[in-house]
Amino acid sequence: MRYLESKERSTEILRLALPLMARQTAAFHPLSYALWYEHCAGMNPDLSRVLDSRLTTNVALTEADVWRLYAQHIAARDMEAFERLQLQLRNLLEETAQSTASASDQAAQFGHSLQDHAKELAAPQEPEKLREIVAELLVGTQKMQHVTADLSAKLHARTNEVNALTENLRRAQSEALLDSLTGLKNRRGLERAVEDLLREPPGLLGSALLLADIDHFKVVNDTYGHVLGDKVIRAVAHVLRSSIKGRDVAARLGGEEFAILLPQTSLTGATAVAEQIRGTVAQGRIHRPDGNDSIGQVTLSVGVAIAKAGDTLEALLERADAAMYTAKRAGRNRISVASEAAASAAAFKAS
Ligand code: GH3
Ligand code: MG
Ligand code: MG
Repeated sequence: MRYLESKERSTEILRLALPLMARQTAAFHPLSYALWYEHCAGMNPDLSRVLDSRLTTNVALTEADVWRLYAQHIAARDMEAFERLQLQLRNLLEETAQSTASASDQAAQFGHSLQDHAKELAAPQEPEKLREIVAELLVGTQKMQHVTADLSAKLHARTNEVNALTENLRRAQSEALLDSLTGLKNRRGLERAVEDLLREPPGLLGSALLLADIDHFKVVNDTYGHVLGDKVIRAVAHVLRSSIKGRDVAARLGGEEFAILLPQTSLTGATAVAEQIRGTVAQGRIHRPDGNDSIGQVTLSVGVAIAKAGDTLEALLERADAAMYTAKRAGRNRISVASEAAASAAAFKAS
């Protein structure tokens, strides 16, 4: 849990944060509040350095700044928590390995002494010697009982700890890869999906990437407020989620920008998915919280790119982004295909 401040302390932080937030261009939404909250609470020194320098130089934070700082200084720290958990798990395993090794050393010693006694018993022995052997066996057996009981208790405790850690790890991992507003993957989640694809041939080759950006979203926010803006973002996310299947991945990259990765999908297939998403979003209606009236039509501009040999996610995103901007320039509420993808599909048809 990140925020453990009492109600009184958090009210005090709110009082400190509000005037600072008011000096920025960025709106008062949960992400920008998280930045100023952490700054005023003194819990994020690296972030405070950046914000202090902005305050001194009087350079206001834009929306883009808020997103970037949030990703760098808050979301990235969630990832650090995840790495800490992983280290704890490793330490636990190492300790368990040590306990097991020491128990097995003692078991081996006991085994040797049993073998020695067995050899001695191969020849006739004096009763005195036999008594000595029996006494030693008794001591050895009792010692082994302690060692194994001790190991078993340790293993039992370790199993519980490992189970708890594994659960925390699973939660931290999935939270670190998800976008909290929409439940879609976040950028890191998309990167992870691409890494998974790259593990096996043909990797990214032949996969399609769609980049979708809500048109004139600033108008929605400015007219109806951020709460409704967030509702629009979630509605678009819902359409994306319903339009994909199997190994396809939908992610929110930030703000009102989404990416959809379609492994092993032709240009024809990818444009069909893009067109379906565009059409469904354009037909949907979002209702205002104060009544039945809907806000105007929400539309998307979508760029489509197809991965070439040796492509990275970065390169693919760049081409999809350029195509998306072509769609914006051409009037929005449309899809546009990255130029080389269109050219190679044309060449394929001609051949
Ligand atoms: P264009 O058609 O060119 O894409 O115009 P636009 O208005 O959509 O683009 P612009 O990038 O100018 O504005 C995006 C706006 O998105 C700015 C910011 O207020 C808003 N925004 C970014 N992230 C969020 C969010 O998480 N929630 C809400 N409600 N708004 C956000
Ligand atoms: Mg936009
Ligand atoms: Mg945008």
